Amino acid sequence: MFITDTAPATASPTGPWRVRDPYGGVAGVARTDGPADVARKVHDLRAAQTHWARLPARERVRWLDRFRDWMLDHRALLGESVQRESGKVTHEAWSEIIVVADLINHLGRVAPAALRDDTPAPHGLLGLSKRLRVQQVPVGVVGVISPWNFPLALALVDVVPALLAGCAVLVKPSEVTPLSVMRAVEGWREIGAPPVLVCVLGGAGVGAAVVDTVDFVQFTGSTTTGRAVAVRAAERLVPCSTELGGKDPMIVLDDAHLARAARGAAWGGLSNNGQACVAVERVYVEAAVHDEFVDRLVAEVRRLRQGPDGDVSTMTTPEQLARVQRHVEDAVARGARVLVGGRPTGRGLEFAPTVLVDVDHSMTIMREETFGPVLPVARVADEDEAVALANDSAFGLSASVWTADRSRARAVAERLEVGAVNHNDVMANLLSFAVPQAGWKESGLGTRFGGAAAVRKFCRTRALTEPRVVLGREPNWFPYTRLRSTALRILLRVAVGRGLRRWR
Ligand code: NDP
Repeated sequence: MFITDTAPATASPTGPWRVRDPYGGVAGVARTDGPADVARKVHDLRAAQTHWARLPARERVRWLDRFRDWMLDHRALLGESVQRESGKVTHEAWSEIIVVADLINHLGRVAPAALRDDTPAPHGLLGLSKRLRVQQVPVGVVGVISPWNFPLALALVDVVPALLAGCAVLVKPSEVTPLSVMRAVEGWREIGAPPVLVCVLGGAGVGAAVVDTVDFVQFTGSTTTGRAVAVRAAERLVPCSTELGGKDPMIVLDDAHLARAARGAAWGGLSNNGQACVAVERVYVEAAVHDEFVDRLVAEVRRLRQGPDGDVSTMTTPEQLARVQRHVEDAVARGARVLVGGRPTGRGLEFAPTVLVDVDHSMTIMREETFGPVLPVARVADEDEAVALANDSAFGLSASVWTADRSRARAVAERLEVGAVNHNDVMANLLSFAVPQAGWKESGLGTRFGGAAAVRKFCRTRALTEPRVVLGREPNWFPYTRLRSTALRILLRVAVGRGLRRWR
């Protein structure tokens, strides 16, 4: 896939392959690793990880700070690489670098405290004799498997916390967009950092070899592949975290600021050409404001400039273009109307930004992930219908609610079966690293981000108990004498009984 004339048709198991620029030509060349390379790299990473884990957390933070500086110094090179392999607009290619740098700054502040031992208080009377400690121990080698829609950011947002936790990382980018991650990993070497970050390249087979070898699988991608990855990780009994697809609903209530809502829908549905797990994929608008909202949305979408230096650009893969086209054609065949866009432009793999109305849940576009620049807008009678339709989905990634009334927004949010709800905004939770990103239902297992949890996720816990007073034997050990049994009966009342009746 993504290869011009003379190059192999996929990431071949034997040689280099050419990475396609969606606007035409070749973005670069990648070499292929085999399962044996994966095993060798993981072996080397394990050796390096033991030293890395022993460094004080602040020392690891310093290496990440140097890596951030390297990325900022090489922003033009990285930005161009992201843009050429994915086809996204310049603005969005550069945004990926900012997100990663911002995350390094945030987690650099959080990690040292997050990795310190906890000393919990005893749970009750029976625990009083012990001093307690909980240690955070890095899991070892983390395999980060990432998709093509944010080639750099979606790999590094998991690499960064795993490294800070004291793990080594083997990162496998999508064969569609391997170049930016390759370059970033070279950067890690260029700054002279310990050899705890390595890249492995190739297609699904190499991804499967990663799952078969590492100590923790961090997967971002489709629900279908994510399920297979989780099954394999379960067979090996290694922890696995999956960030999967979405079908995010946007609910516009009758008191919403419609101009802002229309702009939010346009950006939420069409940025990155709709190729985002948290893209707005369905819009439900209360009947009283439906027509005005749609007029404003269409005006917004008509204003967008399409092309590499514009607002929206091209799909990244021909398969993606075909999927978007199929969803739009199915919707139109079932009665939807296209108000703007609706077809490929003919340049590269561009699909014109599209607004559809008169949509319903019999249509594929309201049920399956489209992952393209299409905003299907449905008219709903009221809040209850909007919530029912929003929840009528296999996915549960995130959602947005648009209303001038904060308590109304919270009430709606509490009824939505999703991991995040943004009030009068889209995707805001993703850029707020202090809160967790958690997909419900088929949108994933586990969480990403969330302050200290982002780093602790890549650790196992070790509990330590220490006696406060060292006796010859503990009161609950052998022998079970009459005296001890009497003491146990008293304890039953005093220590674990509750309420007056028990005490008496
Ligand atoms: P895929 O599931 O096709 O691929 C994701 C990654 O898994 C790629 O690196 C892929 O390699 C690799 N892979 C493929 N088969 C296997 C396997 N059997 N074992 C291990 N790894 C494998 O997803 P896409 O790349 O098409 O990404 C788009 C999807 O990602 C969308 O569904 C989107 O919603 C989701 N996504 C979710 C996010 C979230 O945070 N919830 C964020 C962004 C995207 P290769 O490409 O080389 O075949």
